[in-house]
Amino acid sequence: MKLSFLGRFLCLSLALSTLTLASIANGVSLLLPASGDSEIIALKAARLLDVKSGKILNNPIVLVSKGKIIELGQNIAIPLSAKQIDLGDVTLMPGLIDAHTHLLQNLSFETSARIRESGSMVHTLSTTSDAKRALLGATMAREDLMSGITTVRDLGNSGTNADVDLRDAINQSWIQGPRMLVSTRALAPIGGQFNKLTKESQALIDKEYAVISGPEEARKAVRSAIFDGADVIKVIVDAESRLLTLEELQMIVNEAHRVGIKVAAHAGTELAGMLAAQAGVDSIEHAYGISDELLKLMAKKNITMVATDSPAWSYLGKSSEKEISESDQARLNMFKYAEKFATERIAKAKAAGVRIVLGSDSYYQAGNLTRGQSSLLPLRVYAMAGLSPAEVIRTSTIHAAELLGWGDKIGSLEKSKIADIIAVPGNPLDNPLVLEQVKFVMKEGVVIKP
Ligand SMILES: [Zn+2]
Repeated sequence: MKLSFLGRFLCLSLALSTLTLASIANGVSLLLPASGDSEIIALKAARLLDVKSGKILNNPIVLVSKGKIIELGQNIAIPLSAKQIDLGDVTLMPGLIDAHTHLLQNLSFETSARIRESGSMVHTLSTTSDAKRALLGATMAREDLMSGITTVRDLGNSGTNADVDLRDAINQSWIQGPRMLVSTRALAPIGGQFNKLTKESQALIDKEYAVISGPEEARKAVRSAIFDGADVIKVIVDAESRLLTLEELQMIVNEAHRVGIKVAAHAGTELAGMLAAQAGVDSIEHAYGISDELLKLMAKKNITMVATDSPAWSYLGKSSEKEISESDQARLNMFKYAEKFATERIAKAKAAGVRIVLGSDSYYQAGNLTRGQSSLLPLRVYAMAGLSPAEVIRTSTIHAAELLGWGDKIGSLEKSKIADIIAVPGNPLDNPLVLEQVKFVMKEGVVIKP
């Protein structure tokens, strides 16, 4: 909501008078927050990770007030009335970011393997109301937050704009969850991501996708998405043999960028990725098909690869590799082959200078893992692909924040940034997978866990 001129004037006057009173009362410095010391939290820990430099700061103190980091360092004076929280032998880090999730969908492996997802979508859409999906999303959101994921980019498959309702419910503190940037319905070629449907069933498509055909429909779909509350535009470039054109994609990018909104493009094939890159999208999701030429173009145009690859065993709907039975070995080997291809692809992208950002693409129940636990599994694949611990960590912190356009607010622990802070055991620079064992979560200055 934008404040009127009078509103802004009143706010400014109020802020100035409170500041002045505070400075007179303290007689010290205008830098003291106007609210007084009582609202300050002082976090102490053994270590703090500066994700930008990839360096550890020992015995840090972080002062938090009104949802923001107001000071951090080794020798910070702690105000007398501050609430002190000593977390002990842990490393403080910025809250994690998942740049590609689907909180309003959680398919089960029993009824629907990922490879048969079109049928599952028909099932979801014909049996689950948008309200029920938003309530499911509330649970998924809470599970994400408990694993230290404090921000997500939710990219469609949310019914008709139910992602907007979930985002707003979290922002209004009705429920706890990560900060959400949402796309509303994904723009897509005719048919969305469904396989062939009977004529009567085709009405379901519009509930889940904004179908476009031609640049003018593309323009209108972007404008409608923004009106519906989208923070980001998601476009499905290819679905089976259906493929958007360069003209349609250029229209989408121009129309979104014109008002400062970013575009995330789902591209399965190399051709789809190439069209998306030529059109100048901000991120290519999945990017299963790559070529040296495509990577070169992505690097040149600063297009991020959101790599949505999880470890092989997770595609069998289990909680760990140990749960894979003898009879499932053949299927596991098939996914191991895909995993090997994924690590090669990610290594190539890194070598070409393309940024990789964490995207879980979570929309199914992986064994008895929480949504938060399963959403961090791609980090293991990035580590396998040869990203250094600091690089793995940046995929889900500062680089993800920059992709979202929030690099000045979240993604690293710095003075005046939003206080999204987590704590992990040990030193994440020795083993980035300690990110899977988050012990403490603070979102916007509020302690969520423990
Ligand atoms: Zn997805």
